[in-house]
Amino acid sequence: GVSFEASRSSVEGPEASGIGVELLCVVKAVLKKIKRRVLVGDKVLVGSIDWVDRRGMIENVFQRSSEILDPPVANVDHLLVLFSLEQPKIEAFTLTRFLVEAESTGIPLTLALNKSELVDEETLVGWRTRIRSWGYEPFFCSVESRCGLDTLAYVLRDQTTVIVGPSGVGKSSLINALRGNHHASDAAAGDNWFDPILGSKWFEEQRVGEVSTRSGRGKHTTRHVSLLPLSEGGYLADTPGFNQPSLLKVTKHSLAQAFPEVRKMLSDNEPVKCSFKDCLHLSEPGCIVKGDWERYPYYFQLLDEIRIREEFQ
Ligand code: GDP
Ligand code: ZN
Repeated sequence: GVSFEASRSSVEGPEASGIGVELLCVVKAVLKKIKRRVLVGDKVLVGSIDWVDRRGMIENVFQRSSEILDPPVANVDHLLVLFSLEQPKIEAFTLTRFLVEAESTGIPLTLALNKSELVDEETLVGWRTRIRSWGYEPFFCSVESRCGLDTLAYVLRDQTTVIVGPSGVGKSSLINALRGNHHASDAAAGDNWFDPILGSKWFEEQRVGEVSTRSGRGKHTTRHVSLLPLSEGGYLADTPGFNQPSLLKVTKHSLAQAFPEVRKMLSDNEPVKCSFKDCLHLSEPGCIVKGDWERYPYYFQLLDEIRIREEFQ
């Protein structure tokens, strides 16, 4: 139930400087006919360009290196799961849901915990120890005190990152803090470096920066996903409204693989495997995944949720 009205494409310079010309594009009818969706982050072929009004038509979509659907973004290199330690207080089960959803995409993830200035050292150390036992190295930051932002900018440089997390944790604040001053649309320099002779070579460099969609979820809900250039290079996808993990890509048999601590237990036991090929690690005979890991109750709860969903599908 998603239809596209217009897409905004950013044209990048040969040095991928992040400075580009923004074109308001419609999608060629034939692409719509074959239900070829254009996603934010897509690399596209743009034709019928009107440089005066800055309009064009998306004629083809290049192959994607990755694709996530909730939020819909193509060619994503990295996921940033952002939570806050306080306001709202970090909660282990909710965090696990987001981590499982992120793991299910297969895209590398970084976990950052914001608002670190609101808690004491002991709390930070407590969460670090706990999250390390899950198999992640949490990164602490504070947009408010600008603590950790330089390192985070370095981690995100030159990549296309989608930021996910519950509402109120500081996603928009972080994006604003890391954003470059240049805006694709105010790049007057574009006129200098556009050389019509370079022609089609250029077209391959174009990326869709924004897509307007009508989602099927609510009555007239329009949700915007935009790709914002970062000052250190790379892009951060701003995805307001996408703050509930759907877990739709997770099946009862893939769930365990979304837990690094289970993956470790399984690999540590190699070449010995669970007796049953389809073992769900719920104390089946011959199961090598012991139930004494902290997130086992969460695994169990999510498994139940997924089983119910699968039964009703
Ligand atoms: P989003 O819903 O995840 O996009 O969160 P926002 O960026 O809208 O931030 C929610 C609130 O948290 C705002 O009032 C921000 O000013 C505040 N906030 C963001 N980062 C920090 C931080 O590091 N420390 C504190 N104390 N507040 C923060
Ligand atoms: Zn097992």
